[in-house]
Amino acid sequence: MSDPKVFAIADQAIVDPITIVPELCTGCNLCLHVCPVDLFLPNHDKGGPPHVLYPGECWYEGSCVDVCPEPGAIRLNRPPAMRVNWKPRAALGTSNR
Ligand code: SF4
Repeated sequence: MSDPKVFAIADQAIVDPITIVPELCTGCNLCLHVCPVDLFLPNHDKGGPPHVLYPGECWYEGSCVDVCPEPGAIRLNRPPAMRVNWKPRAALGTSNR
């Protein structure tokens, strides 16, 4: 009897919460381990970037980006409604007190 094959098919979601740059990712899987909703699946090729298996489940809390040791390897694509336009207090003409 041959080994059974298992396939994982990513959810079809209208959101694309995570971008992983394969050229920068070392496949350490730290992002995979800190994700609170188990969004990722490890790559079957050692050292390959994890797969984003459940994009529609993302909470956009960003622990995957925070833990990544490779600058620019992973990016969070927050929906426009969740983006905050921070401005320096000085630009608003108010003081700290
Ligand atoms: S933490 Fe960064 S380098 Fe490690 S697998 Fe995730 S994206 Fe790749």
